[in-house]
Amino acid sequence: MHTLICPSCGAGNRVPEDRIGQSPQCGRCKTPLFPGKAFELSGEALARHRQHDSLPLVVDFWAPWCGPCRMMAPHFNAVAERLEPNLRFAKLDTEAEQAVAADYGIRSIPTLMVFRENVLLFQQAGALSASQLEELVTQVKAVDMAQVHAEIAAQEKNGTTTH
Ligand SMILES: [Zn+2]
Repeated sequence: MHTLICPSCGAGNRVPEDRIGQSPQCGRCKTPLFPGKAFELSGEALARHRQHDSLPLVVDFWAPWCGPCRMMAPHFNAVAERLEPNLRFAKLDTEAEQAVAADYGIRSIPTLMVFRENVLLFQQAGALSASQLEELVTQVKAVDMAQVHAEIAAQEKNGTTTH
């Protein structure tokens, strides 16, 4: 069973594993849960997705005035269309959400971050090609999250991290 946060209304939807590939819609607002392209996230929505959504989340931090961001956007959407419903793809407008961008330490855009089970697994500044994006998400899918959580717990015990 997966929990999928609606890109439109933010409702949590429980979707069984065998139905995830059948274009599920939000039970509240009927929006497709996998829109076939990156969906817009506010900072608040990003926090909700990180905490409650059960799929890996790829976020493109971008801005409307950024040329490389606009060049990467079609590749990002194409990869989203191809790799849904294995992962979720979103974008966050750093111009509209400046405080959020500062919170996440965004220094240049585009910056890509991948979250899984509320853990930041990957971040990279600079535009990626479609094949680089695909390679990245393949790596993310292969991560052993039990091991990641165990390592975080061990670090917290030692007091060596601020996670
Ligand atoms: Zn909805």
